[in-house]
Amino acid sequence: MDNQKLADLLFPEVVNTPEYYEEKFPYRKLPNKAEVTRMAPSPTGFIHLGNLYSALADERIAHRNGGVFYLRIEDTDEKRKVDGAVEIIIDVLRYFDIEFDEGAGFDDSAPQNAYGPYFQRQRVEIYHTYAKSLVERGLAYPCFCSEETLEAVHAKQEADKVLTGYYGEYAVCRNLSYEEIKENIKAGKPYVLRLRSQGSPEKEITFVDSIKGEIKLPENIHDIVLLKKDGIPTYHFAHAIDDHLMRTTTVVRGGEWLASAPIHYELFNVLGFKLPAYAHTAHLMKFDEETGGKRKLSKRKDPELSLDYYRKDGYHPYCMKVYLMTLLNSNFEEWHEKFPDKNINEFPFTVEKMSQSGALFDKDKLHNICKNELSKLSEEELYIFLYDWAKENEPQKAELWFADKEKMLQILRLYMGVGAKRRRKDFMYAKQVFEMIGYFFDMEQEAKKDEFKQNKETVAAILNEYLSMYNHEDDNSEWFNKLKAIADKYGFASDMKAYKANPENFKGSVSDIAEIVRIAVTGRANTPDLWTIVHIMGEAQMKERIQAAID
Ligand code: GLU
Repeated sequence: MDNQKLADLLFPEVVNTPEYYEEKFPYRKLPNKAEVTRMAPSPTGFIHLGNLYSALADERIAHRNGGVFYLRIEDTDEKRKVDGAVEIIIDVLRYFDIEFDEGAGFDDSAPQNAYGPYFQRQRVEIYHTYAKSLVERGLAYPCFCSEETLEAVHAKQEADKVLTGYYGEYAVCRNLSYEEIKENIKAGKPYVLRLRSQGSPEKEITFVDSIKGEIKLPENIHDIVLLKKDGIPTYHFAHAIDDHLMRTTTVVRGGEWLASAPIHYELFNVLGFKLPAYAHTAHLMKFDEETGGKRKLSKRKDPELSLDYYRKDGYHPYCMKVYLMTLLNSNFEEWHEKFPDKNINEFPFTVEKMSQSGALFDKDKLHNICKNELSKLSEEELYIFLYDWAKENEPQKAELWFADKEKMLQILRLYMGVGAKRRRKDFMYAKQVFEMIGYFFDMEQEAKKDEFKQNKETVAAILNEYLSMYNHEDDNSEWFNKLKAIADKYGFASDMKAYKANPENFKGSVSDIAEIVRIAVTGRANTPDLWTIVHIMGEAQMKERIQAAID
C-alpha cells in the first residue's frame, strides 16, 4: 500500500507537518526544575471538590519552582458543553485562590498564550497534521465499520471467549486496500481513523507514576479510535498532542485514567513524543455510616462534593485551601502548625506524598480547620469576608446587619476573643456565624431557642427583679454582684463553692440566674460574656427582650 497516497486521500487539506508545530511551540524557557501543569476539564459547568483537589496539586507543582499552570478546555464532546462553563471554572478556582498563568480565559494574542489555541475544537488542524503523519507511516488507517459490524465482532469474541475489542485479526478494516478505501470514501461511507497498534499481548509496559510508583500493565493492542467520524479527536489522541505541544511536564489526572495509560504510552511512542510524568490521583473518599466502610464521594449522594456548597454556606476559601493541603500532603499539617505564620505556599509540596489509596474527606476535620484559621484572622478581615458573603447570599442582612460597622466589629471581637487571654474558636463558616450572632439583630428569626429550665413564675420573678436592679452604668463585676443578690433572694447559691459542697440546699446557683437572663436576652443558654453582649446591644433592646420574656 502506498501510504503517502492514502494520507493525501484522507487529508487533502493538511498543509503543515509535525515539524512545523514542533518549531512553532518550542520547549519553554523556564528556570531549572520548573514544571508545566494543566487543568483540562470538559466544559460541563460542573466542577467539584475533586477537581479543586487536583487543581491545587497542579498549581502547587507548577508554582513551587516557577513553572506554568494553564487551562485547556477539552470540548471535543459537543453534547456535554454548557455555555459559560469556562467562566465558571476560572471564577470558581479564583474564588479558591487558584490562578492560571495561561490558557483558556486569557486573550489568545496575550504574550503568555503562545501555546494555544487552548480549546481543543480550535486545534483540529493540528490533530489532522499528526494523524496524517501516522497514516503516512502506516500507523493509522480509516475504518468504515458500522455499529452492527462492531456488535457482530463483539458477539463473536464473546462466543470465542477471547478479549473483546478492535484488534489483530478482528480489526476488519485493518488491511483494506487503497482501492477499497477509495471506493468507500467515494460512496460517502462515514469512517473513523484508527491507530494500527504495534502492541503485543505478551509484553508489558513499565512506567513510574509520580503518586502510585512503578506501574506495570499489558501493552495496548487495540486499534483505538484517533479521530471520530466528524474528524474530531478522541481524548486519547488529543491529550497526547496537546500535552506534548503545550510542553506539559506533569499530568495530574483522575485515577480512572490509569487503565488507559498503555494506550497513551503507545501513542506518545508512535508520535515520537516524550512521555510526561503522570500522577494519577486517588478518589476523594468518605466514611459511610451505613456500611461502616469507605466509599467514593458521589455527586448524587453527597452535596459536599459540589463547590457551590462551600460558597453558598460561606466557607472561607483560605480554610478550604488549608484543608485540601492537609488532604494532599500528609506532612502539611505538621508543617503548618510549626510555622503558623508562614505563607502556606512556602510549604514544600511533593507529588510523591499524595495519597495513593483515596484521600478521606472528613467534615469534622474541615470544621476544626475552619475554627482554627478563622480565629487567626483580624476582626477587620473577618468583617470584610462576612460582608462580602452576605452581599452575595443574604442581601437583606448585608444591608441591615452591616449598617453599623462598629457594632458588627464589636460582636466579632467578642466572638473571636480579640484582646481576651485566648482567642475563641466558635466560628466555622459564614452561614453558621450568622446563625450564631443573629440574635443581636433579630430575635424573631431565631428558630431554635433554648428553653428556660425553671418554671414560668420563677423566671418571671427573677427577670422582674433583674429589671428593677439594673443600671446600665454598672461595670461587669457590679452587674454580676446584682445577679448574686438575686440568687440569694430566690434560694439559689451566690457562692459556687457553697453550692458545690451542698447542692441539695439550693434551687441552683448564680449561674442558673445568669442563664435565665441570658436566654431571655439572646434566646440561647450558651454565649460569650453576657455583660458585653448587653452593652453591645444597648439598654433599650435588652430591656425589651427581658420584658418580652416576662410576658
Ligand atoms: N478532559 C479530561 C477529564 O475531564 C481530562 C483528563 C486529564 O486531565 O487528562 O477527565
